[in-house]
Amino acid sequence: MKHKEAPFPWHYYLNTVRSRIFYVVVSVALTFAIVTYDQESPFLKVLALVFFLIITAIVHGYFRINPFRGIMERVEKIQLQLPHDKKLKILYQRNEWILLDQMLLLTEHYIEQQRKLLEDKNRESNLLIESIPNAIVIIDKYENCLLHNELFTKKFIQDKDAKVSEKEKLWRIFEGNMLNLFRDCLHKNQQVKVSSYYFPHLGEYFDIAITPIMDRKQSLSGALGIFHNVTQAKLTEKMRVDFVANVSHEIRTPLTSIKGYTQLLEAHKESIPTQFLPILEKIDNNAERLKDLFDNLLKLSVIESRYELSKEFVNFEELVSTIWANLKAKHLGKNIKLNNSFESDEILCDPKLMEQVMVNLLDNAIKYGKENVIIDISGRNSDKQSQIIVKDNGLGIKPEDLSRIFERFYRSQGVTQKAIEGSGLGLSIVKHIIGKHRGQIEVQSIQGEGTSFTITLPL
Ligand code: ADP
Repeated sequence: MKHKEAPFPWHYYLNTVRSRIFYVVVSVALTFAIVTYDQESPFLKVLALVFFLIITAIVHGYFRINPFRGIMERVEKIQLQLPHDKKLKILYQRNEWILLDQMLLLTEHYIEQQRKLLEDKNRESNLLIESIPNAIVIIDKYENCLLHNELFTKKFIQDKDAKVSEKEKLWRIFEGNMLNLFRDCLHKNQQVKVSSYYFPHLGEYFDIAITPIMDRKQSLSGALGIFHNVTQAKLTEKMRVDFVANVSHEIRTPLTSIKGYTQLLEAHKESIPTQFLPILEKIDNNAERLKDLFDNLLKLSVIESRYELSKEFVNFEELVSTIWANLKAKHLGKNIKLNNSFESDEILCDPKLMEQVMVNLLDNAIKYGKENVIIDISGRNSDKQSQIIVKDNGLGIKPEDLSRIFERFYRSQGVTQKAIEGSGLGLSIVKHIIGKHRGQIEVQSIQGEGTSFTITLPL
């Protein structure tokens, strides 16, 4: 494309004129020197003149054209970067000026094409970012806000009229903990996730994920923050927890009273007709089962809703022996042996919740045990994690039940047939507690031989 109003290349013109003058001056000086040289033959003089003029022309031409080499080199480089279909066929051209002109033309078209492509891509990504039902913000590594969607503006930018321009500092939007989360992500160069973060000025909860953004050289260039509004879920969860807590509480009161009356009646057994004694025992047992069920339901909803764990280093051997004393009292008639082998005695956990885990596992090991119950508990710490294994020699679990025993209310058919009491909530509570610790629990079992639960907790 030729620009009519393209400026005349004055600099190049003046340079050319200057060098031509220099060339003419040198040529004249040379001619003069040779003409005045003391040489008889005019033929030889002309020959020498022509020779020197050619040499001067070659040297002058070379120095004149040398800067052009740099330009040609660059043309080659651009040529290499262009996609295959855009490569110049004119490399076979004999005239470098034409080559240069065509190259520039091609590059101009290519840049224009890329600009349009970039505009389209921008439009698409804007559409995408706006249609996601989460608030989104992208910052660079200097905490400048590069991009955010409408939802982000609506939720987090207080002064909407002052419209957060590009390059607005993040600390104008967030402060305190929230700002620190972004800084954590940038400093540690790893994803930071927070569940149910409460924003008091909105009265809303958000699950937040802040992910580092890497450039093509894999060095940190910024961070992407995604805010997922979970207020509704949180309120529903709170209502559910409150409901379960209230129901459990309301039911436990009459249950305690039923239990109290049955115990009163049992204390006066002799005045009750013998045929009613088994009925009395049934009432007592069922009241006890109901109490257990509601206790477990209450525990589960509290664990599910409680966010902050209070972790500390706990002497595991001590924790187990305290539990053991109570459990033995609960299963008085049984022959139980407990083997402890702890390589390292301290684990990092929430002691109350961990106590609950061990109570449930040991209680199951006894409940689902054979006549002589042998339980082995072992524990060891490695660099990154603690591992606890609880192994029993009990009835074992059928392979088809193994994947389901952590589900709420799931009980294997065998145990219901054998009328072993339980609510199907114990392992579900265990799994939730381990999950809260960001740990894992695995089970291995051979039917008829025993079961082994392996817990790993991060240190
Ligand atoms: P509950 O013991 O109240 O039935 P749990 O959630 O604790 O509920 O256990 C779920 C099921 O897993 C049990 O019904 C039982 O079938 C099986 N189970 C759990 N622990 C053991 C164990 N140590 N040995 C054999 N079966 C087990």
